[in-house]
Amino acid sequence: MNQTQQTAITQPILQALQGLRKTDEALQATVNQLHLALNVSCCLLVRPGAGQVIISQATPKTDLFADTHCLQSHFQLQLTEGDAVVCDRLDTILSPEIQQFIQTSEIGATVIVPLVCHQSYLGEISLYQCNRPRQWTAAELDLVQLAAKYMAIALYQTKLHKRLEQAEQTEIALRESEERKQTEIALRRREQEFRALVEHSPDVIARFDRDLRHLYINPAVTQATGLLPACLIGRTNREVWGSQNTIAMWERSLRDVFSTGQSKTIEFEFSTPVGTKYHQSRLVPEFDSQGKVEFVLTVCRDVSALKQVESALRQSEEQFRQLAENIGEVFWITSSNRSQLIYVSPAYEMIWGRSCESLYANSQTWIESIHPEDREHVANLVQEQELQDWETEYRVVRPDQTVRWIRDRAFPIRDELGEVYRFAGIAEDITLRKQAEQESKLLQTMTQAILESEDFHSALQVALQKVCEATTWAIGEAWVPNAEKSVLECSPVWYSKVEGLTEFRTISREFVFPLGVGLPGRVWAAKYPEWCRDVSTEASNVYLRAKLALNAGLKAALGIPIVANDRVLAVLVFYMFEAREEDQRLIELISASAELGLFIQRKQAEGEIRKSLLKERELNRLKSDFISMVSHEFRTPLSSIVLSAELLETYGQRCTEEKRQIYFRRIQNSTQRITQLLENVLFLGQSESGRLEFNPQLVNLGHFCQNLVEELQPDEGSQHSIAYISQGNGEQVYMDEKLLQHIFGNLLCNAIKYSPKGGVIRFELLTQVEEAVFKVQDTGIGIPLVDQLKLFEPFHRATNVEKIGGTGLGLSIVKQCVDLHRGQIAVQSEVGVGTTFTVRLPLGQSVGR
Ligand code: ADP
Repeated sequence: MNQTQQTAITQPILQALQGLRKTDEALQATVNQLHLALNVSCCLLVRPGAGQVIISQATPKTDLFADTHCLQSHFQLQLTEGDAVVCDRLDTILSPEIQQFIQTSEIGATVIVPLVCHQSYLGEISLYQCNRPRQWTAAELDLVQLAAKYMAIALYQTKLHKRLEQAEQTEIALRESEERKQTEIALRRREQEFRALVEHSPDVIARFDRDLRHLYINPAVTQATGLLPACLIGRTNREVWGSQNTIAMWERSLRDVFSTGQSKTIEFEFSTPVGTKYHQSRLVPEFDSQGKVEFVLTVCRDVSALKQVESALRQSEEQFRQLAENIGEVFWITSSNRSQLIYVSPAYEMIWGRSCESLYANSQTWIESIHPEDREHVANLVQEQELQDWETEYRVVRPDQTVRWIRDRAFPIRDELGEVYRFAGIAEDITLRKQAEQESKLLQTMTQAILESEDFHSALQVALQKVCEATTWAIGEAWVPNAEKSVLECSPVWYSKVEGLTEFRTISREFVFPLGVGLPGRVWAAKYPEWCRDVSTEASNVYLRAKLALNAGLKAALGIPIVANDRVLAVLVFYMFEAREEDQRLIELISASAELGLFIQRKQAEGEIRKSLLKERELNRLKSDFISMVSHEFRTPLSSIVLSAELLETYGQRCTEEKRQIYFRRIQNSTQRITQLLENVLFLGQSESGRLEFNPQLVNLGHFCQNLVEELQPDEGSQHSIAYISQGNGEQVYMDEKLLQHIFGNLLCNAIKYSPKGGVIRFELLTQVEEAVFKVQDTGIGIPLVDQLKLFEPFHRATNVEKIGGTGLGLSIVKQCVDLHRGQIAVQSEVGVGTTFTVRLPLGQSVGR
């Protein structure tokens, strides 16, 4: 026996022992190796208990070797003792059975080794040599012994494994049977509990088979229908109740659950011997092991009481809904934190101009719809009054930009524990009330302000300002008919919320609007307001100042007439900086101010009365001034006359001729001054009483002037002289000589009087085709510029007259006389240099009043 043979024989078994190979396979491999190594006819492994035979053989006579048990039986004793049988010649064995076996199998020699391990007999390994006897060598026998040893170990291990497995299986089986027992007990207990529950359940619980028959129904059915369960078991509902509508629905639902395997809930009304009942039923499928619906379990609850409550609730809800949906106010309900809108009545759509759906979708749109100026106040209020009632007024801006006033009241709704779980509110449209309030407030402030204002124009100013302050109008101007009522003129008053409209204002003031022309003119003619969406885009024949408005950025405009006694006192025109569609509400509001026409008219009348009162007071003052002045003016020349006359009387004989002439001239001059003064006073009297007349007659201007110069020519000793210069023909003209006398008498007298240092007075006459131009020029004290402006007002005297006497009447008389001639008078003067008066009088017969 060499090493290689040993390894070949032991290798498979070792592998099997390590679990790397199956035991049977390893045994077969070992048998094969033995057969090969010992070159026997057959090698046989017999496992008696298992009845298993493993064979390796060279001959085809398989069945013969399989039938070797006679040999084993023969050597039974020896083998069970654990001893190997080594037989070189089988024919020496006298057993007739064996002899017969040898005959058929032709076996000549054999070795049989028992496989024993730990006192367990596990089989034998047998080697057979056919056709001849064989002497087994010790090496061969060792090899067989080795193989037998290994095989025994392998078989023992297999036996152990089997035993272990068996033990395990037994254990499992034992355990399983214990568990099953426990489960059954639990199941039974649960079934009892379940049955107790079901039997005592107030709900009717039933189980139906596929024929819709009751397999089970609990006693609750008696309470619900008056029938005992026994009356129903094994029957369908149709068999019990006949063909009510409900039964058909019930059957349909059961079949549905059987076919779909889906649970369902149904509600139905059901006539029973104990009255009509409302039931709610849950139908649940029960599946068999194949997943097919085998039964349907139904749980039926009597909801009649619930139904009654529900129906009462529905009724009250319906009543609430009818109320909420038919009132003009918006009724709303929100969650306690107001994040969710639960209900809003349809009036919301009317007032807010938005759909209820949009509010349900996003309750934030409510706060967003509030006018920006009111939003913060409302948001704060809602936040602060977390658990309280609140009430407020605010404006909402509708999608078309119109504004509505809302009065909103909210109340918390509490649950039985007193916790606020909802908020309900009522919002009403108070726009009309607000408008009326606003109108009356505006009217009130305006009336007050107008009554307090000084005159017509300041009353207009107040109207413009108050309207702009109360509305979105930025600018207001007023147009007033002129004295002849032929055109509208721009009132000096206006109101603007902004600065920088100087150009618009300055140029506007030069405009006049005839009746029906331009926006003010049209309002004047129609006595009706006119709205213009955007004046800057209007044609210039519709709105005359379109370009101006464009430059100033003015857009929408509104013209409002102020009417009193059917007469338009003024047209107010308002502007704003954005284009705006006609807003009837705004027109109405402002038209309210036009109602103030009567007040404004009163102001106008008051103004006139005040003016005439002032005039009268002024006149009275003037009269007393006049009297004191005139008496003073008379006194000077009179005392001069008296003095000169006394001198003449006393010294007339004794004084020189020259002296006498001086006294006479003084008397003459003083008389002339008195005459002039008297004439002036007379003239004034006539003018006051309206008796002043213009009587033009043919006058030879040249003669008239010459005579006048001669009359006034100072005497020879005087430092003064008058130089008369005339040009042109046409000296025969139609003029009022008396008035000419007043004009030039006064002018020449003044020229002499206000030239205290003497000098030449130039008196020029230039007769032209249509007018006569007169100039009276002196080199006297001159007239300061400030006084030149008031020169022709009665009693006005320049500041530089000092002691030179006078009444201040002359020039006012001159002016009246020039006016009567429809002429003009102008003055040119410089203080300390001299003065020139230029009088232009038209020629011809057409002159006069
Ligand atoms: P009076 O009686 O004061 O001269 P008038 O009406 O004639 O009244 O003149 C009014 C005022 O005009 C005078 O008081 C004087 O101040 C001024 N005035 C008139 N004529 C002259 C003149 N030629 N030179 C300077 N001042 C004159």
